Parts: sequence; C-alpha cells; structure tokens
Amino acid sequence: MSQADASPLILVLGSRNRKKCAEMADLIRPAWEPAGVLGRLEIRSLDDYPQAPEVDESADTFGGNARKKASETAAALGLWVLADDSGLAVDALEGGPGVLSARFAGEPCDDAANNRKLLESLGDVPDDRRGAAFRCALAVADPGGTIRLEAEAACRGRIVRELRGPGGFGYDPLFLIPEYHRTFGELSPLVKHQLSHRSRAFARLRPALRSLLGTPSIE
Ligand code: IMP
Repeated sequence: MSQADASPLILVLGSRNRKKCAEMADLIRPAWEPAGVLGRLEIRSLDDYPQAPEVDESADTFGGNARKKASETAAALGLWVLADDSGLAVDALEGGPGVLSARFAGEPCDDAANNRKLLESLGDVPDDRRGAAFRCALAVADPGGTIRLEAEAACRGRIVRELRGPGGFGYDPLFLIPEYHRTFGELSPLVKHQLSHRSRAFARLRPALRSLLGTPSIE
C-alpha cells in the first residue's frame, strides 16, 4: 500500500505529561528518517480527550503500567493509543524510585520535589556508586483495548550532586551522560533524542509500527 492510498489513522498519546508527549511526538516520526507509512498517523494527545479516564498505575513494572495505560485508554476512547511508562532506576536505591518515579516525593507529581528527594536519598554516596538507568516501556493498543505492540529500552548514566541545565523534564537535570560530561538538562533535545531510553524504545517500536500500519485492514 502506498502512503497516498492510506487513510489517516488517529493515534492518541496516552500521557498527561506535556513534555513527555512532545518527546513522543518527535520520536514517532523522527526528523532523521523518512516518515513513509507513519505519515498516516494523526497524532493527538489526552488534552484533546478530556473525557479519557485517569488510569491507576498500579502495576509493578514499567511494561505492566504501559500496557494498562494503553489498553484502558484505548478501550474507553475507541481509538488507537500509544502509552509510555518510564522512570529512573538508581543502583544505590536498589532500583528505586522505579515505577514510583513520578510520585517519588508524593502526589501530585512535582519534578522539583522529586529531584530534591533524590539528592537527599543519595546524600554523600560517592560518584562511582551513583549509577542509574532511565527505563522506558511503550505499548500500543487498538481501539478495542488489545495490546498490539510493545517495546522497552534503557539508558545508563550517573546522578550528579546538583541540578544542571534547563532542558528536558523530570530528573533530566540530575542525569549525567558520562561520555558527554553533560546532563540531559544540558544536552540539546536533538542529542537527548539520539541517546535516551525513550528514543531507544521508539527505535525498536517503529519497524513494527510501520508493518502494522502497512496492513490494509488497520483502521
Ligand atoms: P510516568 O508518566 O508515570 O511514566 O512517570 C514518568 C516519570 O519518570 C516522570 O514524571 C519523570 O519524573 C521520570 N521520567 C521519565 N522519563 C524521563 C525523562 O526522559 N527525563 C526525566 N525524567 C523522566
């Protein structure tokens, strides 16, 4: 099927985090790859669907929460949904805050409070024991709520001792990429899009999404 033959398909990004949605929208059809059949997608966000239910992120894995968000939102809206569940796993905190990353310092989600709590939790832990990984799980559900695609990836780095850089969101100003001597808060979006857990998960998802969208029965 050529792109010209393909009808538009609405894909809702299943997150209320606007900065995360902006990254997801960039990474579905990245500037460095021809869009091809992905040009079929009409990307929307939950801002376009205020009636979408709040999903209880009660699973104990990123994959479990991504599937839950995608499936419950898709079934409620009767539309295709792509959900991302992501967070930070710090070695010295035995993988924490993990799936609780957004709520580390309590509800509602507050990036500044989460970053303060992370610095307090690590205290004087030496640099060589401040290793961490950002993790990202993606799930795509069809309008009936069935999970059709999944992908996961991680990006390793180190937690610095003070906030560095204005860019990104969440824990970005504390997450150092040692090879670049910069935090994600200091690196440009373009560089973050080459290295991040989310960009790696999208790189795994895109080929499968292309095949799915190339199937004439998908609407
Ligand atoms: P979720 O919306 O439940 O998946 O929560 C993800 C949380 O993990 C966010 O609130 C951030 O605190 C953190 N997080 C996930 N991805 C990133 C990222 O790319 N940079 C910084 N923090 C992130």
